[in-house]
Parts: sequence; C-alpha cells; structure tokens
Amino acid sequence: MSSGCKTAILSVYDKTGLLDLAKGLIKQNVRLLASGGTAKMIRESGFAVEDVSAITHAPEMLAGRVKTLHPAVHAGILARDLASDEKDLAEQNINKVDYVICNLYPFKDTVAKINVTIPEAVEEIDVGGVTLIRAAAKNHTRVTILSDPNDYPEFLGELEKGEISERSRNLYALKAFEHTADYDASISEFFRKQYASDGVQQLPLRYGANPHQKPAAAFVKSGKLPFTVLCGSPGYINLLDALNAWFLVRELKTALGHAAAASFKHVSPAGAAIGVPLTADERKVCMVDDIEGLENSPLAQAYARARGADRMSSFGDMIALSDVVDVPTAKIISREVSDGVIAAGFEDVALEILKKKKGGKYLILQMDPEFKPSSQESRTVGGITLTQGRNDVQISPKSFTSIITPKESAPLSDSALRDLAVATITLKYTQSNSVAYALNGQIIGLGAGQQSRIHCTRLAGDKADNWWLRFNPRVLDIKWKKGVKRADKSNAIDLLVSGELPKDGPEREGYESFFEEVPVPFSEDERSEWISKLKEVAVSSDAFFPFIDNVYRAARSGATYIAAPTGSQNDSAVFSAAETLGITFIEQNTRLFHH
Ligand code: 5GP
Repeated sequence: MSSGCKTAILSVYDKTGLLDLAKGLIKQNVRLLASGGTAKMIRESGFAVEDVSAITHAPEMLAGRVKTLHPAVHAGILARDLASDEKDLAEQNINKVDYVICNLYPFKDTVAKINVTIPEAVEEIDVGGVTLIRAAAKNHTRVTILSDPNDYPEFLGELEKGEISERSRNLYALKAFEHTADYDASISEFFRKQYASDGVQQLPLRYGANPHQKPAAAFVKSGKLPFTVLCGSPGYINLLDALNAWFLVRELKTALGHAAAASFKHVSPAGAAIGVPLTADERKVCMVDDIEGLENSPLAQAYARARGADRMSSFGDMIALSDVVDVPTAKIISREVSDGVIAAGFEDVALEILKKKKGGKYLILQMDPEFKPSSQESRTVGGITLTQGRNDVQISPKSFTSIITPKESAPLSDSALRDLAVATITLKYTQSNSVAYALNGQIIGLGAGQQSRIHCTRLAGDKADNWWLRFNPRVLDIKWKKGVKRADKSNAIDLLVSGELPKDGPEREGYESFFEEVPVPFSEDERSEWISKLKEVAVSSDAFFPFIDNVYRAARSGATYIAAPTGSQNDSAVFSAAETLGITFIEQNTRLFHH
C-alpha cells in the first residue's frame, strides 16, 4: 500500500489509553499496524487495524519472541527523506512509518518479585520493543515515538492541528532513550546480582548507612572493582571511608613523595600524615615508643602520626595506607581499636598479624594502586541524580606561592610548604566546611562538617591545642596504673588537657582510678602559657574566611602560615589582621568543598 496516508506501528505492553489513541489516529486517517495483543484489543473495540504481518508477511513466532523484528518494519522507521533511502524502500516495496507507539515488558516488576527465577526474568527481556523505540527515537527528525501513555492526549491534540512539532518529537525521543536506558540498567543490575556478586564487579555490603538499610552493594558498571576483600565483610560507611581515605593518601604521596596514612571516621579524616621520622616525645604522644623498626618504616611513621593526632576521634577508624603494609605498621594497627584498613598491598607476615584482629573479622582491603578514578561522579538523593566533574585539582607545595602578607616575603621554607600541602590536600577529602592545622607533616587539628567557618577554625584550633598539651611533661610523665587500656588512657588524657575535667562525682573518681599518681590539673594560665609556645603551624581553609575572627583564633594555636581562597568582602581586613599578627597569608586559589 502506498497511499499518501501516514502509518503508525503500535506495540504496547501497558495498554492504558490505547483505544482513545487508536480512535484519534484513525480520525486523522492514519493506517494502524499492531503486534498480536495490541491489534487484538483495538480490533475487538471495533477499530480498523492490521497485523504487523500485513507488511512483514511473516507470522509472530517463538511464542512472541519475534513479533516486529523485520526489515519491513525497521527500514520503514529508519528511512530518511533522502533519495537513496526512498530508492532502497521502493526496491523492497516498503512504506515509511511515521509514528511508533511502544512500551516495554515489565522487567522491573517481574524481578522485584521474591524468588524470581532467571528463566522468568529472561522472558521479560523485551527485544523487539526496544528495537522499535530505539529506531524511532534515532530517526526522530521524521518519526514520532510515543513510549509513555501519558503523552497520548497531547500528541493527538497536536496531530489534530496538523503536524507533530519538532520540539515534541525531540522531547518524545529523549523520553524514549531514557526509557530504554532505564530498562537496560534494570536488566544489567539483575544479572550483575546473579552472575557477578562475588566481589569482582559487584560486592554485596552487610547493610547501608544503618542496619535497616538493605540491600546494599558496591559495584562498577564495567570491569572490576579496584579493590579486593582479603578479610572481613565491609559495610557501606566502611567503603565510603576507605575509598575517600585511599584517594587522600594516594594524593599525599604523589604530591609530597612520602609514604602517607589516614585515619578516617564518618567520611572525614581524624588524622592524616606523611612518613616524617618521629622524635622521642612524638613517639610517646602517639603511643608507639615501643614499636620495633618504626625508625625504618616511613609507612609506620605516617600511620603513627595519623593515629596519634586525635586519638579519641580515631577510635574504631578506617585506615588508608599508601604503600605495602610492613610489620611495624601492622603491629601499630594490631593493638588499636579499628574497623579496617585499605592499602596498596600487604607483606605476608603483616597480613597474618592483621587477620587476627577482631576475632578474624577485621576488614582488610587491597587497593589497586594504579586505579584511576573516573572524571565524572554521580550520586542519587531520593532518586534524583546529581552529577559533577571529579575534584581533580592538583595541590602540591607549588600551590602556595601567592603570598599576600607580609608584602615583602621571602619564599616559604620547605617544611612550611609541606605542611600547607598536607593541610590543604586533607581538606579535599574532609566534609565541608573544614579547616585544618598541620605541623611536622601531619594534621594536628581538623574541624570538619561545621556550618560556620569560625566553628571549624575553633574546633581545629582546640584539637591542635590538645595535641600540643600532650607534649607537656606533666602528660608525658603520667604514671598509669597497670592494665589501663589504650583507649582509656586516650580518654583520660583528653579530659586532662582539654580543661573538661569533672570537678567531683563518679566521673572524676573513674578518671582518677586510672593513675598511679593523679596528675595535677592544668590551670588556665598554665594551659595558655604552654599553648603560646606552639609555633610554625600551617593552617588551611577549604574556602575564604568571611570574618577576621578566624585569623585571631588560628593565631592563638600557633598559626604562622594561613592558606585560603580569597573573595570575601572582608578580604582586606583578614589580610591586615594576619599582617598585624605576623602571620604569612597565602592565597590558595581553589575552593575545596567536599560532600
Ligand atoms: P502485544 O501485546 O502487542 O502482543 O505485545 C506488545 C509488546 O511486545 C510490547 O511490550 C513490545 O515492546 C513487545 N514487542 C514488540 N515486538 C517484539 C518482538 O519482536 N519481540 C519481542 N520479544 N517483543 C516485542
């Protein structure tokens, strides 16, 4: 048939609105061709419809697996208004198709059923429908594709007035592509669970952020996951921590050329450091003075510093280590309370030590050190997808050359540049707002996830003060009762140095019970005097300082260098406050929010 009338192919699983649509099409003198069930319903309602076999001259076969898959259908849909296409059609006696109305088998509903079998799911994989939709959507400059019954009334309204506009055809085509993409994603998700849930491409997780959030999984859409589970079974937050921590240590190592370690809790670092040798006092403060071989292991030094910065926050941490884990590093980890570790590799003996932790349930992940994260990231919130380019800005000691105050400044020392880089790279992986204080190649105070910048600066400053007070001889020389646990020591030291010591009552009694000789509490003057000796601290902020209070607070905890983006209305006041306080203020010109 080659009359001037238009042709529609209809093949719908969801038959909502089908009869009104057929009626409207016939009113506009459109020829209707439909697959089995669709044709039956239209015909039974008394409307004129032909079976698709009228043009394919082939019956539906294989119990419906092949219905519309035929050149007579697809050449009719895909042909352009080109002389060469017209010639091809004429030679085969094929007519152009103008409208395709199709929606797909309910794969999602089927696989949502409990205990669905693979053969049941396989039968719900629509082949011909997807081909119809894709062909029509591809040729949307000429063909209209309707894949959503909700669009029928608007389509008929337009058709009654004449032609379907280019804008409508474009939007229907977009919807069609989304429809097939979503359909294919649910098919691959089903088969990933069936065939690849062995930790290679997909890893089932114990649960999501909370135990009632099930099911939970980690997967990549192609290839392999970049890490292998050597021991234990990860949860959702373990992986959020492990992956963020890994990228942090990888970046610290690349930027500074030293082994690096991070101690993560709730998707922010409690500590991060590179392998700078420790002094005798630092070994005591970090509680590693008895670790054999520490002086020869940059990785152990890095973790000793990362874990030693804020020992209370690191309790139950997820650890990331940039290098192959050796025995001294494993020994430090083995006696701390920790949830897991991700590292570039493990020496055999180190792995055996770690596998004994938590009754054999300690989480051990081996990361592919060559893994390159994709340049685009996305996540969903309530089903809405957010997508962004990955934060791949490179921070290194070279990022701190734009010195604003003092005006005539010599270039910064290597140690200042190193500490500014440690602080700033750490902020890239810390929940915002964030401010970090660094010294000796390690974070000494981090304020994360606060809504106001000054609260970050205060929190980080208070942590830096506490860290520094732990070097006071009164703390270094504490005489502990025998058998006091490491975590209890850390908690007691925190009470002593933070000024939060309870005056009396059971909490005070509990605190005093840990000591052979109860240390004399610090007076306000003693604390201030000791803190005033803290110097050369590098402070970095993930965004500009809106008020000068941040500079004053940082100065009280030994800030000698501050790096931050500029752009605040108060910039000049911030710079002059820094200048007055003798602080070198460096413009670090990239904002580093992280969520
Ligand atoms: P009907 O109810 O008309 O028999 O079938 C409609 C369904 O068949 C639609 O969901 C459509 O996507 C699907 N379909 C159309 N052509 C083919 C085909 O050639 N093979 C398969 N497996 N499904 C098809």
